[in-house]
Amino acid sequence: RSRALVHWAVSHRAEQTLSQNTAKTPVETAIWRCAVPSPLRRAFDYLQPEGCHGAAKPGARVTVPFGKRSVTAVILSIASGSPVEPAKLKAATALLDEEPLYTDTQRALLSWAADYYQHPLGEVLPVGLSPRERRGQPERAPTETGVRLTARGRGLPDGAPHRAPKQAAMVSRLKPGPLTLAELKAEGFSSAVIKVLKDHALVESCELATETAWQTRSPPLPANAEQQTAIDQIVAAAGAFSVHLLYGVTGSGKTEVYLQSVADCLNRGQQALVLLPEIALTPQTLARFEARFEAPVIALHSGMGDAERDRAWTAARRGHAAVILGTRSSVFAPLLKPGLIIVDEEHDAAYVQQDGFRYSARDVAIKRAQLEQCPVVLGSATPSLESWHNAELGRFQRHSLTQRAGTGTLPTLQQIDISGLELSAGLSPELLNKIEAALSQRHQVLVFLNRRGFANALLCHDCGWSSDCADCDARMTLHKTPPGLHCHHCGRRSALPRQCPSCHSSRLVGTGVGTQQTESFLSERFADFPVIRVDSDTMASRQAMPELIEQLAVGDPVLMIGTQMLSKGHHFPHVTLVAVVDADALLFSPDFRGEERLLQLLTQVGGRAGRDGTLGEVLIQTRHPDHPLMQRLDKPYHTALPDLLNHRVQAGLPPHGALGVIRCDSQDRQEGLSFLSQVRNGVTAPRGAQIIGPLSAAMARRKNRYRSQLVISAGSRSMLAKVMAELITAAEAARHSHRLSWSVDIDPYESL
Ligand code: ADP
Ligand code: ZN
Ligand code: ZN
Repeated sequence: RSRALVHWAVSHRAEQTLSQNTAKTPVETAIWRCAVPSPLRRAFDYLQPEGCHGAAKPGARVTVPFGKRSVTAVILSIASGSPVEPAKLKAATALLDEEPLYTDTQRALLSWAADYYQHPLGEVLPVGLSPRERRGQPERAPTETGVRLTARGRGLPDGAPHRAPKQAAMVSRLKPGPLTLAELKAEGFSSAVIKVLKDHALVESCELATETAWQTRSPPLPANAEQQTAIDQIVAAAGAFSVHLLYGVTGSGKTEVYLQSVADCLNRGQQALVLLPEIALTPQTLARFEARFEAPVIALHSGMGDAERDRAWTAARRGHAAVILGTRSSVFAPLLKPGLIIVDEEHDAAYVQQDGFRYSARDVAIKRAQLEQCPVVLGSATPSLESWHNAELGRFQRHSLTQRAGTGTLPTLQQIDISGLELSAGLSPELLNKIEAALSQRHQVLVFLNRRGFANALLCHDCGWSSDCADCDARMTLHKTPPGLHCHHCGRRSALPRQCPSCHSSRLVGTGVGTQQTESFLSERFADFPVIRVDSDTMASRQAMPELIEQLAVGDPVLMIGTQMLSKGHHFPHVTLVAVVDADALLFSPDFRGEERLLQLLTQVGGRAGRDGTLGEVLIQTRHPDHPLMQRLDKPYHTALPDLLNHRVQAGLPPHGALGVIRCDSQDRQEGLSFLSQVRNGVTAPRGAQIIGPLSAAMARRKNRYRSQLVISAGSRSMLAKVMAELITAAEAARHSHRLSWSVDIDPYESL
């Protein structure tokens, strides 16, 4: 723990560049070595402003001139000299914090993340602040104001002031310690009494960490034996770092394990951080936590307004919030006294930030637990290969929940071989019969198709023209509601042509079925039942998902058609039939995680079925029923992992070894490739590491920019870090125009 803190002070890359030749030209005033929000991977020295004497602490925010702007920076360390000529040193404008807003571990974590993900520290540090704090404003005041005795008030003899019994009562009530205004009012002390005592300087306002006891509101469910074992082991691990992989089949009651582990954490007076992959899941989970605990439970996600976020940040930092439920970036939130971290659906791609500062919130959460010295629980019905592998190696403790909790049973899985079959909007006759049967028994049905729009592309039957996007190496998708062509990669939209733009033929046909087409077919075929499309086009508003869940809760028959949005941890208790329209789409994906993701998706989608006692059924349409992955769909998820892992070992891919990517984005294709060649030529890969490329990215052109990359594969993490550092130095030195930008991606998740 202490090493990590020292690391903040001395060993960051940016620091090293400066400190190698520090103190050649000592100057009188102290130097503030600062991290400035800029893509430059180095620290910047500023003179302490006049009239500011030795007060600054590392971690404090400061205002500094930077180029022509004034920016909010963070002090990394205070130095007595600078390698920069004294005449060229600028003075900082102002010190914004007497006490740093960052907690010690938060600083250590952010600094670690900048190092690990090789991203400029000046751009990483703001992630630990709330919106207004990033703008250089003070922390938003906590809403709870308290009242305490002043020194004079504490000096009063018992029973004083004698002529005012109400005032005397309040003074004696405050002797054991401060109370909040709300508490005082509840005990019958009016604002007038408080004001008089304030005017006499006997009491004063103070900010209070509400130390009210956190309690359980509703009793826990009686845990089954597997749940109890998991809870006992997580609870027993309190107070030290450990990683727990909670592998529980869908509906096995993982949330109950979280709730009971969190209860223990709150009883110890500590805060729990619970990470969720999706905003859409936060209201549901928030409600479950609020129903269980008599304690402040707060949410943190990108759908919140700045003011709400500022308030939540303060509550987390001051220890007022007991449970913090949040999406990806909340892993960097300040916490006064964390005792437990939970990462729900740990395999979910939404934990990976894919642009700017690229990181995996799951991996950062593990590092954070190590720094905070607390347990971290990774929960999933479909753990990532990385986590599974770590459990096999004994680095993570594994707890399995093999049965559905309560009355639910696991669904049966069955394939439908669709090769050579005539399909209607992607659906086989057998599937349509099953849907009909389920609806007529008044069950709910979920049809899964991971492609929105009406058709994948529009083609001309006569000349072969296709609806290519002008700015991407991709085809524009045909939409009917509202009509138009959309590029799902760059957002470009254009009108739906009536005739072929190339040969004027009117024989234009859509290829590849999307959710709109299946929806329109199903609403005609099953006109007596509501057909609901669930994709990012129909679920754009914040209320859409909660409203849908409410409608489904009634239990009337409903036919849903939707994208992967439906595969996320939602509860659809009345769904008995789940149909997967096109399982083959991922089977032959170029992404090395394609098979793993297909397996996860099918297990998760299937997991929506039969949660309420009725036996569920999952039907999977495929043209490759003999594929090894399709063959094992009826077996537990983890039985497929050894094979997948073997393929990765053979290919030298994670979780074996380590991968990094230097990505380049340029207006001119050739400029990107020659930039990367130049970078590559500046570095010799050591034995055991390989630099591959320059290569074009999987989609070489997007938004009219060319994307190319160098892929670095290394036998170990430390070797990867070393090679990446050398490549970054080479990239910083390489010349290029302003039309080119480059970035670093460690443990890449996007397909290569
Ligand atoms: P998961 O998160 O593993 O998918 P949930 O935690 O949502 O599963 O639990 C599924 C259902 O089982 C919920 O309705 C939950 O209330 C119920 N449940 C969980 N644990 C128990 C238990 N020990 N006894 C009875 N019902 C339980
Ligand atoms: Zn044509
Ligand atoms: Zn496009």
